[in-house]
Amino acid sequence: MTKKVAFYTLGCKLNFSESSAIGRQFRDAGFETVSFTDETDVYIINTCSVTDHADKKCRKVVEQALKHSPRAYVAIVGCYAQLKPREISEIPGVDIVLGAAEKFRIIEYITDLTKREKAVIYNQPIEATRDFVPSFSYGDRTRTFLKVQDGCDYTCTFCTIPLARGNSRSDTISNVLQQAKEVAASGVKEIVLTGVNLGDFGIRDGERKDRFLDLVKAMDTLDGIDRIRISSIEPNLLSDEIIEFVSSSQKFVPHFHIPLQSGSNKILGLMRRRYQRELYAGRVALIRKLIPDCCIGVDVIVGFPGETRDDFIDTYNFLNELEVSYLHVFNYSERDNTPAAGMKGKVPGSQRSDRSKMLHILSEKKRRAFYETQVGKSASVLFEADHKDGFMHGFSRNYVKVKTPYDPLLVNELRSIKLERIAFDGDMEISEPAEVFFH
Ligand code: SF4
Repeated sequence: MTKKVAFYTLGCKLNFSESSAIGRQFRDAGFETVSFTDETDVYIINTCSVTDHADKKCRKVVEQALKHSPRAYVAIVGCYAQLKPREISEIPGVDIVLGAAEKFRIIEYITDLTKREKAVIYNQPIEATRDFVPSFSYGDRTRTFLKVQDGCDYTCTFCTIPLARGNSRSDTISNVLQQAKEVAASGVKEIVLTGVNLGDFGIRDGERKDRFLDLVKAMDTLDGIDRIRISSIEPNLLSDEIIEFVSSSQKFVPHFHIPLQSGSNKILGLMRRRYQRELYAGRVALIRKLIPDCCIGVDVIVGFPGETRDDFIDTYNFLNELEVSYLHVFNYSERDNTPAAGMKGKVPGSQRSDRSKMLHILSEKKRRAFYETQVGKSASVLFEADHKDGFMHGFSRNYVKVKTPYDPLLVNELRSIKLERIAFDGDMEISEPAEVFFH
């Protein structure tokens, strides 16, 4: 009987690319991949640990999994598994917990699918995780998340990622190009470059061998891929050259997602971020000058220890004046073994939520203002496979989300359209999609 495996992935694009790569290992080992709600023999749950909510979510997913397949063998991998293996091993129904170095050799560890009384843990100290293991997501989305960098050498005081993923390390440019060609050959039209600290690409064996700009230039020569999106880049690593290069590239799309975290220099200092807000504003200004229609996304944390009402208003006003397109707002979440968890000036949960609400409203205002600048313009849209209430969606190069009546022939198609009006739900309504002939 062919054994079945099902996946549940929490967290970031990197986790999705790694789950997809692990899925291919199971396929090569003769397993059939089924959906999470189907009867299965094995569950692989790829975890995140950015917030305590993520930890709790893992427990819920195990419970749900065992409701669908009570006898299934449950394996937990990912950042939470590296940081708190013992805690996870006590979740009823878990059979094995694998750390950051072990997760890519999961097939070697899962030799017997008999459920265990007590979960077994294979987890080395993160310092032992030195190898870069390539991966890319395929088959479950229109865009492919291509992992090119892992780990981080920064020491932001709120962050556990370096503890979960280790030091900054990356693939070689030639190997990235090889994988990108494989992705292109599979019919995927958009690649999203993915990493933990993507802009720090180029470190191998602890030494800097390349720069992110070198990778960008090399990827720009790739045939068969229409779009390349940079998933996220630190402001201090987003150089003038990268912005200039993207401004004249046909392949790299006009969309930058740049973590800010706070608009208060005092709080940026406490976070041990590597820039002050003036640098951030300078990046935005240069992007607006060279790429006026660029989409600019911002990560921001509210309720960091020591953030007074005035500091928050500082952040609010700074963002309000900045010509950005949307915000991703995170409530500060205490993480064990981080310096911030021990800092004074804890912000009460109710205040964190109030501040978060204010920034969510501001984000909606920014997104709408950005969309209004796009109404009436032509754009090329890559249509996704979703089908809800008779509609499907797609994204323009500059990340405008459009909707159109569902047509299976449009799935994974690039089409030229006109952005007509903003619909009641905030998505953009468009003209009749027309063929695009440009690659
Ligand atoms: S740059 Fe800072 S926030 Fe980002 S992964 Fe590294 S330590 Fe964490």
